[in-house]
Amino acid sequence: MKTFALQRSESVEQAIAMAARSPTAQQGATVRFLAGGTTLLDLMKLNVEQPDEVVQLRRLGLDTIETQPDGGVRIGALVTNSALAHDPLIVARYQVLSEALLSGASVQLRNMATTGGNLLQRTRCVYFRDTTMACNKRVPGSGCAAQGGYHRNLAVLGTSEHCIASNPSDMNVALMALDATIYVTGHDGTRAIPIRDFFLLPGATPHLETVLAPGDLITHVTLPPLPAGTRSTYLKLRDRATYEFALASSAVVFTPGEGGIGRVAIALGGVGTIPWRAPEAEAVLTGQAATMENFRAAAAAALRDARGHGENDFKIELARRCLVHALQTVSKGGQP
Ligand code: SF4
Repeated sequence: MKTFALQRSESVEQAIAMAARSPTAQQGATVRFLAGGTTLLDLMKLNVEQPDEVVQLRRLGLDTIETQPDGGVRIGALVTNSALAHDPLIVARYQVLSEALLSGASVQLRNMATTGGNLLQRTRCVYFRDTTMACNKRVPGSGCAAQGGYHRNLAVLGTSEHCIASNPSDMNVALMALDATIYVTGHDGTRAIPIRDFFLLPGATPHLETVLAPGDLITHVTLPPLPAGTRSTYLKLRDRATYEFALASSAVVFTPGEGGIGRVAIALGGVGTIPWRAPEAEAVLTGQAATMENFRAAAAAALRDARGHGENDFKIELARRCLVHALQTVSKGGQP
């Protein structure tokens, strides 16, 4: 592992100033913020990430969960995945988020991983983590070993000829269905980014994964209030029952209405290069009856543009079935 300088920050302003003033940053070298370290430290040990300077964030105090005047909730960037999953407010009102978090990783990792860090979780493509292999995401322009190589766990939606890596996060899929807003502070002040605008498709630049600029720090995330009667669920399908990434997952936020479905928000995990919102499926269902026929039509719409690469072709049908089952379950008010 490459030698790096470690700085401990005591405030958001100090952390941003440290990143900006770092002599290495001014020479174009890399500075990374360190929260729980569950992604960054792994990648540093593999030499995939080689920062010159690491700014530790643990003392910033961004670890509270608060109700908002409008009935929504504000989640600090350093709230751990465990704390968020078990928070009574989240369990009662945003069940999809609690279920998604508890389906991810292990207890030990959830105790360390943070909300801000999880938003920036990197792909599990094996070639991204192997510095001897071609990978456009790790080294722009070097090629993509996954296409023609092992890609069973990679994406079928939002891919490009340059990268087919899937986003591995469960939390992000739930946040996508909940229309979260991500608050960021950087050199140019603070801005609010709707989660639908936060992630970037790989296109020709798969090394760019979000709209964050160098030195931007995620401070908190907000969730809007949900209409009365809303219920939600997260269904994750994987090779083994625990400590495994999704092959396909569905986050569904469902509000009953006259005739059946008043409002529904759907996001898919395990199949997209980014946490995948499915507006086509939502349009099929809104104002319609909660029937299997409509659920199947919605799932077909959600996966209409999916394209497999051989080994991962099975994910398309798996994702359809996952969504149908999640819709069926949440419409009945039960759990998968
Ligand atoms: Fe790299 Fe993306 Fe190709 Fe994987 S799929 S090898 S992350 S470019």
